[in-house]
Amino acid sequence: MMKFCTLASGSSGNSLYLESKYSKVLIDAGISFRRISRSLGDMGIAVTDLDAVVLSHEHEDHSRAVGRMSGVPVYVSGETIGFWEGKINGRNNGNGAKTSRLPNGGIEKLREFDSQEPFRINELTLTPFSVAHDAIDPVGFTVTDGRVKVGIVTDIGKPTALVRENLKDCDALVLESNHDREMLFSGSYPAYLKQRISGGHGHLSNDQSASLLGDVLHDGLKYVLLAHLSARNNTPEMALGCSLEVLRRRGAEGRVALAVAPRSTAGEVITI
Ligand SMILES: [Zn+2]
Ligand SMILES: [Zn+2]
Repeated sequence: MMKFCTLASGSSGNSLYLESKYSKVLIDAGISFRRISRSLGDMGIAVTDLDAVVLSHEHEDHSRAVGRMSGVPVYVSGETIGFWEGKINGRNNGNGAKTSRLPNGGIEKLREFDSQEPFRINELTLTPFSVAHDAIDPVGFTVTDGRVKVGIVTDIGKPTALVRENLKDCDALVLESNHDREMLFSGSYPAYLKQRISGGHGHLSNDQSASLLGDVLHDGLKYVLLAHLSARNNTPEMALGCSLEVLRRRGAEGRVALAVAPRSTAGEVITI
């Protein structure tokens, strides 16, 4: 059994808490340390109770607090560490100017993972897989305790075969549903930003997200949490509507629970 909940989800900050029998893990720490410790505290958990913080990519809305994790091991991909250390050119980095340095002067317990190789944290196996996004070495994850499996993908420009392959047998999914294309293109964002978001290395639209859900839908899928919604170019109703239509078409509407992760408050605790 595993439990998880988002502490925040969206371009102003992302963090997801996941708990299994022997482990407490944070995927991304893109809000302030104070908000992380307050949200965990509301659940009776101290930051020092965490076994690990695992980073999906270096963008600030995912990494803001990684330099302040009070001795908790922080797992980061080797290439991302190379970028922070100045060994890898950050030309491809969407938010490069803000992030081409070690966060807050350094991480006390930095642990390196290979973005192609599963790694263990206690009884959990985390499998990273590369995603198309304008960061140095961005990954999605599946996390399993050997019984249930959760897939987590936000910040992906397009669904790829690798993403579909990794998500195909999950019990629960945290899936980006960033924007409605119509709202994005008729909205007030400058052209370069519209291009960045909608391009193959930006963020998933509601339609893309729903189509990915259709591709990985199977009888064992119980929960889908739509995440990283844009405040300006989406509404929870629109995101839910797109995915719900796919579930309906496939006769899975009553079987799969569907929800949206709130942007700036902690979401509901989901148990699978
Ligand atoms: Zn993001
Ligand atoms: Zn990003």
